[in-house]
Amino acid sequence: MAKILIIEDEKNLARFVQLELQHENYETVVENNGRKGLDRALNENFDAILLDLMLPDLNGLEIARRVRQSKTTPIIMMTARDSVIDRVSGLDHGADDYIVKPFAIEELLARLRAVLRRVKIEKEAQNVTVAKQQTVKFKDLTIETANRIVHRGDGKAIDLTKREYNLLMTLIHNKNNVVSRDELLNKIWGPESNIETNVVEVYVRYLRNKIDVPGRPSYIKTVRGTGYMVRDEDDDKE
Ligand code: CA
Repeated sequence: MAKILIIEDEKNLARFVQLELQHENYETVVENNGRKGLDRALNENFDAILLDLMLPDLNGLEIARRVRQSKTTPIIMMTARDSVIDRVSGLDHGADDYIVKPFAIEELLARLRAVLRRVKIEKEAQNVTVAKQQTVKFKDLTIETANRIVHRGDGKAIDLTKREYNLLMTLIHNKNNVVSRDELLNKIWGPESNIETNVVEVYVRYLRNKIDVPGRPSYIKTVRGTGYMVRDEDDDKE
């Protein structure tokens, strides 16, 4: 249920808007004073703010400006004066939309739904971006974990099989530590598998062929008698 703050000093209008919003299943809070309204807006979390322009103590433009300094809560200005200057300055001060009094409640509800929908879409878009940006870097490799794509630098993708990918990620997760062949078998083929440890060697070879730079030391170091490891630092000096 969306929670809406109504900052409006005309009590009849505030009450009317509140009842209409409650009827539409919104949770509502009313403040009739500008300064108190600002305190509420800053200290509580609302899904949207309906904000009158002319208010005692602190006007709507100032409230919008101060809310915007720290919050992205959508603001719909309610202005009595149908003047272009008021509307523009409302938007300039951080309001998302405005409605001119007297207004039909259906119009207010429609504008409210629109800003809430916009916020929801923006949030979803942000989440998608965040998921896409989950990348792991190792040397000159960039691994996008969401879709299991490995790139060299910003260049073209290196095509790894599922097992090669899992092998690489297991080694990277244990960076600077030796991972034994048995551990790798366990992690990649499962504890139930009858695969022999020399299969790990074969897969390490496949993976090296794909990720290593020819003529340079392998990204995957063999630790004799133990297993494999990857390290951040350059092995050139050894
Ligand atoms: Ca007023």
